[in-house]
Amino acid sequence: MQDTIEQIHEASPEQGWDIYDGPSSTYRRVPPGRYTFRLPTILTSDTEAWRPTAAGHLQLTFTATVVGGEYDGEEFRYTRFSTRPFSNGKGNFLGKLIRSLGYDGPVPRTDEDYQRIIQSLANHTFESDTDWQYRCKGCKTTFYRTAAEAPKDADGNPLTRVDCPNGCLDAEREGQPLAVWAQPQLTFPVSPFRAAGKR
Ligand SMILES: [Zn+2]
Repeated sequence: MQDTIEQIHEASPEQGWDIYDGPSSTYRRVPPGRYTFRLPTILTSDTEAWRPTAAGHLQLTFTATVVGGEYDGEEFRYTRFSTRPFSNGKGNFLGKLIRSLGYDGPVPRTDEDYQRIIQSLANHTFESDTDWQYRCKGCKTTFYRTAAEAPKDADGNPLTRVDCPNGCLDAEREGQPLAVWAQPQLTFPVSPFRAAGKR
């Protein structure tokens, strides 16, 4: 099975999973696709940005902001990349991120290497694929990892909210099912060092 950023989320604190709750008049849910993002300034000393995974791997949490196009300025908050190794042992998502940001140096060997490189790449841009994920904050279960997997409306479009399939109830509205909202997520950063469309 292919590694996913979601696996890393599941090994992480729950912070950030309910940030897209509820409809808003201004919020635009960025459709799945490939977008250009900007990396903010992240200091090595920023302990909020550098919070380890539950398993103790170095993990970067930041707000990725779309640059250009129809969704310019939209934010993907609580974007996370960690050094948890891929299941094939070759690399990790934080390593993919620094390559996508244009880092072409030697493979980082220590956590401090990664932190120093990320700090040096402030305000650089990178491309990443995105998709929607549906996770219930009640039972902490991810039901659909892509918009393609999600239930569709009558026009064939993926629903942006579904009732929790596990039957969770909304504590604030008696008897009502708990809503699970489609949450846009970065799924895989794109390396500029390989042919377009490949990873
Ligand atoms: Zn649930």
